[in-house]
Amino acid sequence: MSVICLGTMAFDAIETPFGKVDKIVGGSATYVAYAAANFVTPIQQISIVGYDFPQGEMSEMKNRGISLDGVEIIKDKKSFFWSGIYHMDMNSRDTLITDLNVLEDFNPIVPDAYQGAEFLMLGNLMPKLQMSVIDQLTVRPKLIVLDTMNFWMDVAIDDLKEVLKKVDVLLVNDAEARQLSGELSLVKAARKIIQMGPQFLIIKKGEHGALLFHEEHVFFAPALPLEEVIDPTGAGDTFAGGFIGHLAKTKDISFENMKTAIIVGSVMASFCVEKFGPERLKEISKQDIDARLSEFVQLVNFDIDLV
Ligand code: AMP
Repeated sequence: MSVICLGTMAFDAIETPFGKVDKIVGGSATYVAYAAANFVTPIQQISIVGYDFPQGEMSEMKNRGISLDGVEIIKDKKSFFWSGIYHMDMNSRDTLITDLNVLEDFNPIVPDAYQGAEFLMLGNLMPKLQMSVIDQLTVRPKLIVLDTMNFWMDVAIDDLKEVLKKVDVLLVNDAEARQLSGELSLVKAARKIIQMGPQFLIIKKGEHGALLFHEEHVFFAPALPLEEVIDPTGAGDTFAGGFIGHLAKTKDISFENMKTAIIVGSVMASFCVEKFGPERLKEISKQDIDARLSEFVQLVNFDIDLV
């Protein structure tokens, strides 16, 4: 079972109340792939990097079953660069710099070997490029999941609305759901967004968990209360990677299985935030993931007698 993953492979500079890094590997597709590869391989990456992206990181990805056939390397340009600073509560951040660099003339090409993939993860990127990948696929995948952010709502809302008509699941955070729908209530926002195209909507609420909406149903998954959150960057992408990884592994795209998938996404995100960049994701084993899944079961399991 293969999963195509489109998104950025980048460098980030990040400041949180717990520290600062000037240049660390990041990017939406980097986090998605590292998370999803724990559940299913190959992860078929589509991205673009410059001359500066570390060869060692690429080898690490390949060793984990992440195919880089669809990653273009531009010899005379720098990789995408993003910089952000987190507020004290770590749930909100300000973007300081977005240097598109190689992204400026990115034209994603789906390699022939990727055709026939049953799962497509459209990571955070220009909506036009997300659409281009959908259009190039000769067979529509069983499930198309799209992640986006306020940046693209500000600069490319019409393109975003077009691509929303073609996807099954949309992932956004609470502020983005409000921005996209113009509604303050998340329930009203969900109703409006589902009318825009996706049958399923996931609203991420950082340390307050995530909500899954489908038709008239809502499911809530908490985030694991952690003693230390060092860097929330990539948590959303990691969540997406765990979510689609679980669905692809189980080959089941029902609402019931999506409930489990958002728990798996939350588990993966809980690891991501423990260190700067994707470092923690590279350390964990299947045992670590299973142990944390059990912690989640303990966290939300309770009996109640209704009389
Ligand atoms: P997240 O914290 O899950 O929203 O993802 C953070 C990652 O997304 C960082 O590693 C950035 O390199 C990447 N990123 C930031 N802004 C953008 C953007 N406008 N488009 C694509 N990727 C981005």
